[in-house]
Amino acid sequence: MATTATKTTAPAQEQQANGNGNGEQKTRHSEVGHKSLLKSDDLYQNDPQYILDTSVYPREPESMKELREITAKHPWNLMTTSADEGQFLNMLIKLIGAKKTMEIGVYTGYSLLATALALPEDGTILAMDINRENYELGLPCINKAGVGHKIDFREGPALPVLDDLVADKEQHGSFDFAFVDADKDNYLSYHERLLKLVRPGGLIGYDNTLWNGSVVLPDDAPMRKYIRFYRDFVLALNSALAADDRVEICQLPVGDGVTLCRRVK
Ligand code: SAM
Ligand code: CA
Repeated sequence: MATTATKTTAPAQEQQANGNGNGEQKTRHSEVGHKSLLKSDDLYQNDPQYILDTSVYPREPESMKELREITAKHPWNLMTTSADEGQFLNMLIKLIGAKKTMEIGVYTGYSLLATALALPEDGTILAMDINRENYELGLPCINKAGVGHKIDFREGPALPVLDDLVADKEQHGSFDFAFVDADKDNYLSYHERLLKLVRPGGLIGYDNTLWNGSVVLPDDAPMRKYIRFYRDFVLALNSALAADDRVEICQLPVGDGVTLCRRVK
């Protein structure tokens, strides 16, 4: 995987981080044609909690809040989906009217619960994770919310489960939505299989496609070991998705970045 990140020089990084003190931003954000969805750097610098405090936490279902609080005490809590992304997934699933879904990478189940709550009573989620223990930590919240019956949890690596599904022609094009939030080195392998399993017009969401911001750091920048390890896979994924005419894509700066792929072929 020899994909190279866009090089950002130190002064450019500094400039991106600084406004002019009058509330105006001298950054690429404010140049015409360079506005991202989150237009103002003030939102990041002055109150990164604003969206959460104003629009997310006050509307968060009790079961999701409880699950989020249980997860916060777990040593690997960095892995959880953020509450704003959970709210986004919940809305998205309702908007596309998804019924048959899958999730790769469950952890304690925050995004799983966001999905389960959005689905109709007879909706389903095939949920895969190599770790059942963490799933069971959040399961009481899922059951309390009355949505446990929608979930078919499979313990173990996701790839063989996908291969079994692909081997069954009846499963082709049968899924409305898939959320992929697991081992980044396998995302492109998942992608090939999911393009058979998700229906044309259906959606795949790949999580963490900004990989902690490391996608724009120079190769020699200091990075935590696991960030560096998966960074090339995330860069390769982003390039591959951008060039893949079987899908329409939209990469959103929600959470750690989520890329939506709508199957068109
Ligand atoms: N979506 C989850 C949430 O909302 O909290 C977070 C998932 S966490 C970032 C990644 C998960 O992927 C971990 O629970 C890990 O056990 C799981 N995982 C890693 N490799 C996997 C594989 N090959 N197949 C299935 N799950 C895997
Ligand atoms: Ca994630």
